[in-house]
Amino acid sequence: MPDIFPVSRFVSESAAADLLQQVRWRDGVECPRCRSDLTVRNGSYRVYQRYLCKNCSRTFNDKTGTIIAHSKLKLKEWYFTIYVFLRFNTSIRKIEAELDLSYRTVRRRVECFANALDAPSITLSGPVEIDEVYVSAGLKGRERDQASRSRGLSTRGRGSCDSDKPPVFTLVDRGADERYVVPAKSADESTVRLLLADHEQESLTVYTDGFRAYEPLEDDDAFDREYVVHGDGDVNNCESHASLTRRWLSPHRGVSKDKLTPYLRAFELRRELYRKSGDEALKHALDAAL
Ligand SMILES: [Zn+2]
Repeated sequence: MPDIFPVSRFVSESAAADLLQQVRWRDGVECPRCRSDLTVRNGSYRVYQRYLCKNCSRTFNDKTGTIIAHSKLKLKEWYFTIYVFLRFNTSIRKIEAELDLSYRTVRRRVECFANALDAPSITLSGPVEIDEVYVSAGLKGRERDQASRSRGLSTRGRGSCDSDKPPVFTLVDRGADERYVVPAKSADESTVRLLLADHEQESLTVYTDGFRAYEPLEDDDAFDREYVVHGDGDVNNCESHASLTRRWLSPHRGVSKDKLTPYLRAFELRRELYRKSGDEALKHALDAAL
């Protein structure tokens, strides 16, 4: 089997625990309570190494203080869940059936993982493309999400978070070859300004369509506004990234609005795994959530 699948970490609880130890203490063991590095090995807790802190005299183990500390799931099951969720865009229903766990247990683990992911810090090199799409959130049983976009200069039909289609902004930074997907409360000028606020050059080139929220960029010397044409394949990276976003969300139909942010952070993390081997990808995902 190709190494896209880190099998050993999914079959042995002690191999799973080894990986946790490697990733968590990459920079040395540190007491989770007092941050001291004056620690010594002190027996074990199940398959996990235990430590004694010589500063505060408390003991802890490899799991203490992490999001998996109190999980009933075996660590190898937790890895499997996170791995197939990220790498293969597997639905929670399928994972639940594969592991013979309850839907709630799996969903809680996935969401707990996604909640632990940091917000991306957006620093733009430019030129940048920006666009918004509207995804169906909290509507169970919808066949598919769709971009409710009225073309051209129309300002109607664009949703806000009050509707069931919250706006999700896609930014493609051509200079840095980075992509960001950020849900917003509404698609208005202040949101656009916030998203574009952090840029290196004095004047950032921004490609937008004719939507009115982008109009103020026209008169602002911090920006150099250009237009994109929708449907113009090569030019419009935002559209293709937005369609990947919708594909990512589609097995998780019924993701509620308040869960959209963590699910989209998981989507961003997924991109970072593309060229990694199974073991490296799992380590990276674990590291992102610890
Ligand atoms: Zn301590």
